[in-house]
Amino acid sequence: MLTIVGGPMFSGKTTWIIDYVTKLTPGSFVLFKPNIDTRFGKDVCVTHHGKSFPAVNLNTKKIDFSQLKEELTTIVIDELNFFSPDALIPLIKEQQKKGRNIIGAGLLYDYKRQPFGATLPLSKTADSFIRLYARCDRCGKDAGHSYRKVDVKNQFLLGAKETYGACCDDCWEILSSNV
Ligand code: ADP
Ligand code: MG
Ligand code: ZN
Repeated sequence: MLTIVGGPMFSGKTTWIIDYVTKLTPGSFVLFKPNIDTRFGKDVCVTHHGKSFPAVNLNTKKIDFSQLKEELTTIVIDELNFFSPDALIPLIKEQQKKGRNIIGAGLLYDYKRQPFGATLPLSKTADSFIRLYARCDRCGKDAGHSYRKVDVKNQFLLGAKETYGACCDDCWEILSSNV
């Protein structure tokens, strides 16, 4: 089974992931986070509320599932957006063939509304796709996108509330042109 949770910043993806793993049997799963996401600490997944769960770093440049214990039934990965689809998808398929459950969460789009990393491609082949929404910073409607509050142009820019906001489709243009 492949389950993908996708949405913009602040939509509750990490909250969903932590609530999910909390219900699993200890020792039956591994929770991964990308090594390049150092926002809240190195070996932990953290929500914007500060809720956290211990996590294992997965090297985005050299993804390696070969050391996983045989008895693991479930692989959980937060921030799928930081992994390249070409590198991650074949490895996920391989793990599915071994009978493992894969659950992943991430941003579907970057601040330019372009597909971001492996989240969107994986959502298309998922058995279950859960689309989360935040609240639009400008009008309060469901927010399916993220916008950047600072004038930096590369796709990779770590940040939280001071750097990114959530918005609906209609407000994206207005909020994005404010920077
Ligand atoms: P994600 O992993 O998707 O970025 P988290 O699970 O870490 O999200 O945090 C979600 C929490 O962020 C919400 O419960 C809410 O309290 C807070 N939050 C901050 N800004 C917003 C917003 N614009 N819309 C909705 N929630 C927001
Ligand atoms: Mg998160
Ligand atoms: Zn709006």
